[in-house]
This record gives sequence, C-alpha cells and structure tokens, in this order.
Amino acid sequence: MTYKTVDLRDKLPGQPWSNINGLERERKGSVPQKQPGRVVIHYSGPDFEGEDIYDRLRHGKATVLEVLTREAENHMAKGRFDPTFQPNGLQYHYTVWRDLVFQCRNEEALLWHCNDGIGADSYNYTAIAVHVPTTKGFPVSKQTVQTLTEFVANKLKEKGATSRANVKGHQEISATDCPGPLMNQFVLPFRAGNLNPGEDPGGQVGGDHPDIPVDGNMSRWEFGQVDVERLQIPIAIQYDGHHTWDFVPSTEERPGAPNWSRWQFMQARLQDIPSDFDITFAGAKFGEVREVDQPPDTNGVPDWVRRPLAFLEAAKGGKYTAWKPAMGEFKDGPPAWVSNAKPPPAAAVKSKGGFCASLLNLACRVNDVDIFVDSPKWWAGGVPWWGERVLNKKVAKKFVLNRQYPPGTLFLRRYTGPALAKQGHVAILLRGRTLIQSDLQLGINSSRTLESTHNGLGKFEYYVLPEDWLKPKGG
Ligand SMILES: [Zn+2]
Repeated sequence: MTYKTVDLRDKLPGQPWSNINGLERERKGSVPQKQPGRVVIHYSGPDFEGEDIYDRLRHGKATVLEVLTREAENHMAKGRFDPTFQPNGLQYHYTVWRDLVFQCRNEEALLWHCNDGIGADSYNYTAIAVHVPTTKGFPVSKQTVQTLTEFVANKLKEKGATSRANVKGHQEISATDCPGPLMNQFVLPFRAGNLNPGEDPGGQVGGDHPDIPVDGNMSRWEFGQVDVERLQIPIAIQYDGHHTWDFVPSTEERPGAPNWSRWQFMQARLQDIPSDFDITFAGAKFGEVREVDQPPDTNGVPDWVRRPLAFLEAAKGGKYTAWKPAMGEFKDGPPAWVSNAKPPPAAAVKSKGGFCASLLNLACRVNDVDIFVDSPKWWAGGVPWWGERVLNKKVAKKFVLNRQYPPGTLFLRRYTGPALAKQGHVAILLRGRTLIQSDLQLGINSSRTLESTHNGLGKFEYYVLPEDWLKPKGG
C-alpha cells in the first residue's frame, strides 16, 4: 500500500455518524447495510470560473481539509436536500487526493447524495461514497488515479467482493455530470480491469500539477493547469499533438482584441476559438494567444484571390466607421471606399477605417473589378447594394455552416432596415477558419472564425464563391 490514510472525522463540521434515517437506528444497526463491492465515485462538480479553491488546491495553496470543510458546510446548508431536514455532515465517506485517502465519515453512515432519494433501495445508502476534489474539465493526476485504484481495490477485497461490477460513477445512479473526468479516468477503466494496484495507469491525461514543465511546449490542458505565475516565456501550445497556438506573455492592453479567460480557452470547442486573442486569469491579462498560421496553400489559391486578401490583411487594425447622413453619398474614403479606380494604399484604410462592405469594395478595386454603379434603389458599395447585386446575378447560395469554403468566399446577411440590428453584415473568408471583416467591436480584424462570427455576431444567409464576385476580367 503506497497511500497514507488521514482521519478527518473529528476535524470536519458535523458528526462522523449520519442523522439520515435516525441516529438511533444507525447505532442499533437496523439500517440498510452496505453491500459488499458497492462504491460510488463523486467529484466536486462546480464549473471552474477563474481562480477558485480547487485551483488553489491543485497548486498547493489550499488544503484538502479547507476544501472539504467548505463542501461539508454546503452539504449541511438549510434546505439543501429537503426543506425540513439538515444532514449532519459531508456526504462522502472518503476523499482521495494525490497519495492520501481521507476518512470523512463512519463507513456505515447512511449518506444521501443528490437525486438518489431516501428509499431503502438508495444506492448511496448501500454503497461507500468515494470523492475526489476536482471539477468539470479538470482531469486528476496520475498519482490520484493510482491511489484511487489501490484504495478501491483494497476496499473490495476487505469487503469480500468478488467483482468490480458495482463500482459506479454517480452519473450511473442518477441524472448528474458527477464524477466528470473521473468517469473516463477511473470508473470505466477500473471496471474493465484496466487499472490495477501497482501498475502505471498509462494514458491518463492528468499530470501532477505543480510538476508540469514550462519548457516552451505544452498541451492545451497543461497550459490551463500550470501555475499562471510560471507562464513567463513564449510557449508553443499543442492540441491533439499539433502545434496549434503560440502563447506570448504580455500585460499590455491591445484595444479591440477579444478577451478570453484561460478557463474559456481550456473548455472551448476548437471551432469557437478566435485566431488571435488576449488571455486572462482571475480577470487580469497575462498574455496573448495566436493561432499558428496554416501552411500557406499558395498552389491552390489563385493570385487574384491572394492579392486582395493580402491588401485587406494589411489594413487590419483600422477602426469600424459607420455612415452618417452628414457624410452624404459614398465616396473614395471612409466608411465605404467606393470608386472604379485603383485602391489607396492599405495604410490609408488602416488609419481611416471603414464599414463592413468597404472590404468587399476595396478587394474588387485591387482586382480592377469596376462594378460600382448605383442601382435605382441603393448607392453602390453598401450592404444593401451588395445583397441586391449578388441575388440579382443569382450567384448567392444558401449559407451552410458545416462545409468547406475556399479563401475569398463572401458571406452575407442582408440589409433589412436602418436599425443597427437590421443593417446586415458581410465578411470574407481569409484562410482556414478565419474571416476578415470590419465590425463595431473589433474594427478591421481577422480574429473570428466563420463559426464564431455566425453564432456570435449574427447569422449569415448567403455565400458567394470568389469567382462569382472577385474575379477580374480575363483573370
Ligand atoms: Zn456526486
């Protein structure tokens, strides 16, 4: 046995015995008996939102006793389980952390965990509740999995159980996410016989948190786990074995850059992560994360697409400018940059800004696509004119989120009225998953993916392939 046992029964709030179904009955032994081999695994549950007590525990800045004291008080809170009844202690018999097993309640105590009911057939009544103080999205270390394996195997042996079949995750008893990552880290492999005392658990994603090296190469998971104070050098962040992002430490503000907490970055679906953003911890910026450029696919992308896109990229950082009646008709300047002539230098656009359709107008001007003629209804070069144009020419196709689009594809939500929410939007696919666009929040930017724009900024209705709006005559 390589773990140590620590008895916390007289240090935690409440009593070691349980008041559920009556103290007297428990003392006399006339209560549902624990069934040999029944074990339920729990975790601490709450979503992590920045720095919390579980994060401090991971980094050795809070003790297990502090964590369990808080949880016991929470379990004992009035009305937590029933308006008329208040349990007299933590609802776990044991807690496992690193190389320690903490005894929290008498093993025979009836403990009532969430949603499992109070009937004589309650699984929790007849099982031993084993808890691990981790939260959603945070797998535990290899060492904790090893201790859990040894402890549960010993407990089964001690009780004379001949099978692991009744070692369950809380979610297998009632509707809950509990025990989160421990389902795949422990419950399923243990039951399948793939975790055994004295054996390396292998393949577990958890490291021992304080020991994760900061050597310029980390997985996204490690980036979220390591003490933020140690993140003071540039780091390559990998996902699924691929170098996907670069982290650069910095605390300087970058106006207009999207702001993500380290927790959001850890938890997000890949397609929702902006290509370039500032990253915060406990509300303070500590660096920037940039998506590593996809290898430039210069063979596949024609020159007449690459040149206008390069022009627009050079204008990134320009502010969003809205049209106001005092400005009069669109012209060769902000916000529309409309003219049937060569475009100004990209630096002029960057310094003066533009509205969303100005990027389409400028892209066409780079390619000498002279199309800017007012329609009977609209000035050339605004979102309504673009919508009318691509629909009349029958080159607009119904937008579908989950398909591959070539660089230079135009995405459109139509103008339906002068109110801000109805003015529509246009954007152009740059490369990979990101769009170049001008919007109120970020100005001219390529920080958003197609999916995060569609879901966050407003739904696109149509797309237009580059050859249908941007191709020069004879190009
Ligand atoms: Zn649970």
